[in-house]
Amino acid sequence: MIIMKFGGTSVGSAARIKDVAKLVTARKGSFVVLSAMSGVTNTLAEVVGYMFNRNQDGAKETLRRLEAKHISTAKELLGDASLDAFIHEAFEAMTALTRDFFGSVQERIIMAQGELLSTKLMEQYLLKQGVKAQLLPALDFMKLDNQGEPDLAYIQEHLQPLMDASADIYLTQGYICRNAHGEVDNLQRGGSDYTASLIGAALGAEEIQIWTDIDGMHDNDPRVVEKTKAVRHLNFDEAAELAYFGAKILHPTCIQPAKFAGIPVRLLNTMEPEAPGTLIDNSPETGKIKAVAAKDNITAIRIKSSRMLLAHGFLRKVFEIFESYRTSIDMICTSEVGVSVTIDNTRFLSEIVHDLKKYGTVSVDLDMCIVCVVGDMDWENLGFESRVLAAMKDIPVRMVGYGGSNYNISLLVKEEDKARTLQALSRQLFG
Ligand code: ASP
Ligand code: MG
Repeated sequence: MIIMKFGGTSVGSAARIKDVAKLVTARKGSFVVLSAMSGVTNTLAEVVGYMFNRNQDGAKETLRRLEAKHISTAKELLGDASLDAFIHEAFEAMTALTRDFFGSVQERIIMAQGELLSTKLMEQYLLKQGVKAQLLPALDFMKLDNQGEPDLAYIQEHLQPLMDASADIYLTQGYICRNAHGEVDNLQRGGSDYTASLIGAALGAEEIQIWTDIDGMHDNDPRVVEKTKAVRHLNFDEAAELAYFGAKILHPTCIQPAKFAGIPVRLLNTMEPEAPGTLIDNSPETGKIKAVAAKDNITAIRIKSSRMLLAHGFLRKVFEIFESYRTSIDMICTSEVGVSVTIDNTRFLSEIVHDLKKYGTVSVDLDMCIVCVVGDMDWENLGFESRVLAAMKDIPVRMVGYGGSNYNISLLVKEEDKARTLQALSRQLFG
């Protein structure tokens, strides 16, 4: 069995839904996972925002617009008004939720509606085409345990019995689930990829396909570097390194279930369905540098202290400060008298700096950029680190991260030097 996941833009209009329907009917027996129509989850989040600000009129007006969008899409897709009652009822129920007490239970019910609507549209269209589509409600099998993590054993046990063996296509909602208390919940924003990966693992699928309308994965940023090449193969570890930088292509949470179950993930492009895309699996490819990626808006913090010399427990104290502000650290470099770290969330920067001052002299560099080189970086390989550093001979480098995994070297540079860093690395590594 093949799992096919389509993102919001792939189901963003009647025409796009028809394109997806054509793609999936050509692969009978597949299991299709859909996001909400593009923009819908954001709009639902807006409705929730209005409700928490006690602006009922804002919420109602936004819901009215969203209802009209779904009604007109359904009309164009199906050529009739057969889904109007279903859509209207869904929005009536949402509007009703805005009348009484509004809390996190109501919030999550509202956030779940986009996927419930998009899958209904697809189901009705497929049935109309004579395709025997079975819509399996994710709320009946996609479940979180009491740690808030997906319960793969439960999913495995409950999904298979729901599936009608005579169906041509199975269809379900991405993103949405129930929590351990049975309430409607979700797998966090962007979580439809995660749904696809979990279903793939639960069913022991042949392949998990993530379809987007982004033009595949490149070995460098095509907006900055003129000649980039498509990346045809990555292993899961390389993909995990890149996910932090290229989350637009594959959500980071999607990697783990597929990796453990040994099921390949393929990134495909709906605009170019015949192209081979990028295959991600467990097979290693030795001696190859695959890609360069960058992330802006990075802040570097340095703590220098003579007390660190020969002391133990210094790093723990430093890390505890970041932990207490729920701020995750990305890069770390240490010397005998100092440590530098990077963060991408500066919400508590001034509190963190204030607390760190207890332990030494603190300095901060704003507007930095992590550039990450991914590939087979086993430390025993010769020449890879030196090629990366040779490319940097005219560019100031604030930090270098190497040896944390066997798959990457990271460089911290000024954001203003990002373009020339990417270009220099491209020439040096792929030129
Ligand atoms: N619709 C959800 C979101 O926008 C889930 C997804 O698209 O992956 O976050
Ligand atoms: Mg996505």
